[in-house]
Amino acid sequence: MTAYSHLIDGVAGIRHGFGDKTHMMPEALLPWQETLAVKKQVHGIHIHRVEGPAEQCGPADGVLTSTPGVLLSVLTADCLPLLFARRDGKRIAALHAGWRGLLAGIIEGFADMLAKDDDPADWVAAIGPSARPCCYEVDEGLVEDFLARLPIPGAIVNPAYRRLDLAAIARYKLNAAGFQAVDDIGHCTICATREEEAGTPAEHHFAYTSYRRNSKKRALDPAYPTISGRNQHSGLVILP
Ligand SMILES: [Zn+2]
Repeated sequence: MTAYSHLIDGVAGIRHGFGDKTHMMPEALLPWQETLAVKKQVHGIHIHRVEGPAEQCGPADGVLTSTPGVLLSVLTADCLPLLFARRDGKRIAALHAGWRGLLAGIIEGFADMLAKDDDPADWVAAIGPSARPCCYEVDEGLVEDFLARLPIPGAIVNPAYRRLDLAAIARYKLNAAGFQAVDDIGHCTICATREEEAGTPAEHHFAYTSYRRNSKKRALDPAYPTISGRNQHSGLVILP
Protein backbone atom coordinates (compact mmCIF):
# COMPACT_ATOMS: atom_id res chain seq x y z
CA MET A 1 0.00 0.00 0.00
CA THR A 2 2.84 2.38 -0.86
CA ALA A 3 1.42 5.89 -0.93
CA TYR A 4 1.80 8.23 -3.90
CA SER A 5 1.26 11.91 -4.57
CA HIS A 6 -1.05 12.78 -7.46
CA LEU A 7 0.85 16.01 -8.01
CA ILE A 8 4.26 14.33 -8.33
CA ASP A 9 2.72 11.53 -10.41
CA GLY A 10 1.62 14.27 -12.79
CA VAL A 11 5.21 15.33 -13.48
CA ALA A 12 6.55 13.48 -16.53
CA GLY A 13 9.79 11.55 -16.10
CA ILE A 14 9.75 11.28 -12.30
CA ARG A 15 9.23 8.14 -10.24
CA HIS A 16 8.47 8.48 -6.53
CA GLY A 17 6.90 6.80 -3.53
CA PHE A 18 6.43 6.87 0.24
CA GLY A 19 7.63 3.70 1.94
CA ASP A 20 5.85 1.92 4.75
CA LYS A 21 6.42 -0.86 7.24
CA THR A 22 6.41 -3.68 4.70
CA HIS A 23 8.10 -1.81 1.84
CA MET A 24 10.54 0.48 3.57
CA MET A 25 11.86 1.37 0.12
CA PRO A 26 8.84 1.87 -2.19
CA GLU A 27 8.79 -0.91 -4.78
CA ALA A 28 8.77 1.58 -7.66
CA LEU A 29 12.18 2.88 -6.49
CA LEU A 30 13.92 -0.46 -5.94
CA PRO A 31 15.63 -0.44 -9.38
CA TRP A 32 17.53 2.72 -8.29
CA GLN A 33 18.41 1.64 -4.77
CA GLU A 34 22.15 1.38 -5.62
CA THR A 35 22.20 5.05 -6.70
CA LEU A 36 20.77 6.39 -3.44
CA ALA A 37 22.43 9.54 -2.10
CA VAL A 38 23.65 8.62 1.39
CA LYS A 39 23.35 11.19 4.17
CA LYS A 40 23.29 11.29 7.94
CA GLN A 41 20.05 12.96 9.08
CA VAL A 42 20.63 15.14 12.13
CA HIS A 43 17.33 17.10 12.45
CA GLY A 44 19.14 20.11 11.02
CA ILE A 45 18.53 22.35 8.02
CA HIS A 46 21.51 21.63 5.73
CA ILE A 47 20.49 20.65 2.19
CA HIS A 48 23.12 18.89 0.06
CA ARG A 49 23.33 19.34 -3.71
CA VAL A 50 23.77 15.83 -5.14
CA GLU A 51 25.78 15.53 -8.38
CA GLY A 52 26.13 11.79 -8.96
CA PRO A 53 24.96 8.30 -7.98
CA ALA A 54 25.52 6.90 -4.47
CA GLU A 55 27.05 10.18 -3.33
CA GLN A 56 28.19 10.41 0.30
CA CYS A 57 26.53 13.62 1.47
CA GLY A 58 27.65 13.73 5.11
CA PRO A 59 25.27 15.26 7.66
CA ALA A 60 22.23 16.63 5.80
CA ASP A 61 18.44 16.72 6.16
CA GLY A 62 17.72 17.63 2.58
CA VAL A 63 18.96 16.59 -0.85
CA LEU A 64 18.51 18.31 -4.20
CA THR A 65 19.58 17.13 -7.64
CA SER A 66 19.14 17.70 -11.33
CA THR A 67 21.05 14.52 -12.24
CA PRO A 68 18.87 11.79 -13.80
CA GLY A 69 19.14 8.27 -12.39
CA VAL A 70 20.10 9.33 -8.87
CA LEU A 71 17.71 8.29 -6.11
CA LEU A 72 17.01 10.84 -3.36
CA SER A 73 15.20 9.85 -0.20
CA VAL A 74 14.60 10.79 3.40
CA LEU A 75 14.18 8.27 6.21
CA THR A 76 11.38 8.85 8.69
CA ALA A 77 9.44 7.21 11.51
CA ASP A 78 6.98 9.96 12.59
CA CYS A 79 8.97 12.94 11.24
CA LEU A 80 7.58 14.55 8.11
CA PRO A 81 9.00 13.61 4.69
CA LEU A 82 8.63 16.26 1.98
CA LEU A 83 9.18 15.45 -1.71
CA PHE A 84 9.56 18.08 -4.42
CA ALA A 85 9.68 18.01 -8.21
CA ARG A 86 9.95 20.86 -10.68
CA ARG A 87 7.05 20.73 -13.12
CA ASP A 88 9.45 20.21 -16.05
CA GLY A 89 10.84 17.10 -14.33
CA LYS A 90 14.41 18.47 -14.47
CA ARG A 91 15.03 18.90 -10.75
CA ILE A 92 13.94 17.08 -7.57
CA ALA A 93 14.44 17.36 -3.83
CA ALA A 94 13.57 15.58 -0.59
CA LEU A 95 13.50 17.08 2.92
CA HIS A 96 13.40 15.47 6.35
CA ALA A 97 11.22 17.81 8.40
CA GLY A 98 10.49 16.79 11.95
CA TRP A 99 9.53 19.35 14.56
CA ARG A 100 13.15 20.45 14.94
CA GLY A 101 13.64 20.97 11.23
CA LEU A 102 10.34 22.83 10.87
CA LEU A 103 11.15 25.09 13.81
CA ALA A 104 14.71 25.69 12.57
CA GLY A 105 13.45 26.62 9.09
CA ILE A 106 14.40 23.83 6.68
CA ILE A 107 11.53 24.76 4.33
CA GLU A 108 12.56 28.44 4.27
CA GLY A 109 16.18 27.33 3.76
CA PHE A 110 15.17 25.24 0.75
CA ALA A 111 13.18 28.13 -0.74
CA ASP A 112 16.21 30.45 -0.24
CA MET A 113 18.43 27.91 -1.95
CA LEU A 114 16.10 27.80 -4.96
CA ALA A 115 15.71 31.58 -5.07
CA LYS A 116 19.16 31.98 -6.65
CA ASP A 117 18.30 30.27 -9.95
CA ASP A 118 14.80 28.80 -9.66
CA ASP A 119 11.24 29.62 -8.53
CA PRO A 120 9.11 27.62 -6.03
CA ALA A 121 6.06 28.44 -8.18
CA ASP A 122 7.51 26.08 -10.82
CA TRP A 123 7.54 23.17 -8.37
CA VAL A 124 5.06 20.71 -6.90
CA ALA A 125 5.44 19.43 -3.34
CA ALA A 126 4.07 16.46 -1.40
CA ILE A 127 3.72 16.03 2.35
CA GLY A 128 4.18 12.40 3.33
CA PRO A 129 3.02 10.11 6.14
CA SER A 130 3.98 11.43 9.60
CA ALA A 131 2.78 11.70 13.17
CA ARG A 132 -0.51 13.58 12.92
CA PRO A 133 -2.47 15.54 15.54
CA CYS A 134 -4.75 12.54 16.18
CA CYS A 135 -1.78 11.01 18.04
CA TYR A 136 1.07 13.51 18.22
CA GLU A 137 1.09 14.77 21.79
CA VAL A 138 4.01 16.95 22.93
CA ASP A 139 5.04 18.98 25.98
CA GLU A 140 3.15 22.23 26.52
CA GLY A 141 6.51 24.03 26.42
CA LEU A 142 7.15 22.83 22.87
CA VAL A 143 3.72 24.04 21.75
CA GLU A 144 4.51 27.44 23.34
CA ASP A 145 7.86 27.52 21.51
CA PHE A 146 6.13 26.92 18.18
CA LEU A 147 3.49 29.56 18.87
CA ALA A 148 6.10 32.11 19.97
CA ARG A 149 8.60 31.49 17.16
CA LEU A 150 6.44 30.85 14.10
CA PRO A 151 4.24 33.50 12.48
CA ILE A 152 1.47 30.95 11.92
CA PRO A 153 -2.08 31.06 13.36
CA GLY A 154 -2.28 29.12 16.63
CA ALA A 155 -5.22 26.99 15.49
CA ILE A 156 -3.06 25.61 12.65
CA VAL A 157 -0.01 24.91 14.81
CA ASN A 158 -1.89 23.55 17.81
CA PRO A 159 -5.34 22.20 16.87
CA ALA A 160 -5.96 20.60 20.27
CA TYR A 161 -4.42 20.59 23.75
CA ARG A 162 -0.71 19.60 23.51
CA ARG A 163 -1.11 18.51 19.88
CA LEU A 164 1.13 19.76 17.08
CA ASP A 165 0.06 19.50 13.45
CA LEU A 166 3.37 19.09 11.62
CA ALA A 167 1.70 18.62 8.23
CA ALA A 168 -0.41 21.78 8.57
CA ILE A 169 2.64 23.75 9.71
CA ALA A 170 4.59 22.46 6.70
CA ARG A 171 1.79 23.31 4.29
CA TYR A 172 1.51 26.84 5.70
CA LYS A 173 5.28 27.34 5.41
CA LEU A 174 5.37 25.90 1.88
CA ASN A 175 2.62 28.24 0.72
CA ALA A 176 4.31 31.21 2.41
CA ALA A 177 7.58 30.30 0.66
CA GLY A 178 5.88 30.28 -2.75
CA PHE A 179 5.10 26.57 -3.21
CA GLN A 180 1.45 26.77 -4.23
CA ALA A 181 0.92 23.20 -5.48
CA VAL A 182 1.06 21.04 -2.35
CA ASP A 183 -0.29 17.51 -1.92
CA ASP A 184 -0.75 15.79 1.44
CA ILE A 185 -0.74 11.98 1.68
CA GLY A 186 -2.47 12.40 5.03
CA HIS A 187 -1.58 9.15 6.79
CA CYS A 188 -0.66 9.11 10.50
CA THR A 189 2.42 6.92 11.09
CA ILE A 190 1.34 6.23 14.68
CA CYS A 191 -2.22 4.96 14.11
CA ALA A 192 -2.70 4.19 10.38
CA THR A 193 -3.45 0.51 9.88
CA ARG A 194 -3.52 -1.74 6.88
CA GLU A 195 -6.20 -4.28 6.07
CA GLU A 196 -5.99 -7.06 8.60
CA GLU A 197 -5.02 -10.46 7.34
CA ALA A 198 -6.26 -13.51 9.20
CA GLY A 199 -3.68 -14.80 11.65
CA THR A 200 -1.28 -11.83 11.54
CA PRO A 201 -0.18 -10.44 14.93
CA ALA A 202 -1.74 -7.11 15.94
CA GLU A 203 1.49 -5.08 15.57
CA HIS A 204 1.63 -6.03 11.88
CA HIS A 205 -1.65 -4.27 11.28
CA PHE A 206 0.05 -0.87 11.64
CA ALA A 207 0.98 0.47 8.24
CA TYR A 208 4.10 2.45 9.20
CA THR A 209 7.13 2.24 11.43
CA SER A 210 6.56 4.73 14.26
CA TYR A 211 9.16 5.95 16.71
CA ARG A 212 6.42 7.00 19.14
CA ARG A 213 4.61 3.68 19.07
CA ASN A 214 7.89 1.81 19.43
CA SER A 215 9.06 3.95 22.41
CA LYS A 216 5.78 3.33 24.21
CA LYS A 217 6.14 -0.43 23.75
CA ARG A 218 9.76 -0.33 24.87
CA ALA A 219 8.81 1.65 27.97
CA LEU A 220 6.56 -1.26 28.97
CA ASP A 221 8.91 -3.99 27.76
CA PRO A 222 12.62 -3.09 27.49
CA ALA A 223 13.21 -6.29 25.51
CA TYR A 224 10.92 -5.07 22.70
CA PRO A 225 13.08 -4.54 19.57
CA THR A 226 14.04 -0.97 18.55
CA ILE A 227 13.11 0.45 15.16
CA SER A 228 16.79 1.08 14.38
CA GLY A 229 17.33 0.42 10.65
CA ARG A 230 13.59 0.11 10.03
CA ASN A 231 12.61 3.65 9.07
CA GLN A 232 10.66 4.10 5.84
CA HIS A 233 12.13 5.82 2.79
CA SER A 234 10.25 8.54 0.96
CA GLY A 235 12.02 9.11 -2.28
CA LEU A 236 12.12 10.05 -5.92
CA VAL A 237 14.30 9.86 -9.01
CA ILE A 238 14.51 11.59 -12.38
CA LEU A 239 14.22 8.80 -14.94
CA PRO A 240 17.38 8.61 -17.07
ZN1 LIG B 1 -2.89 9.06 14.55
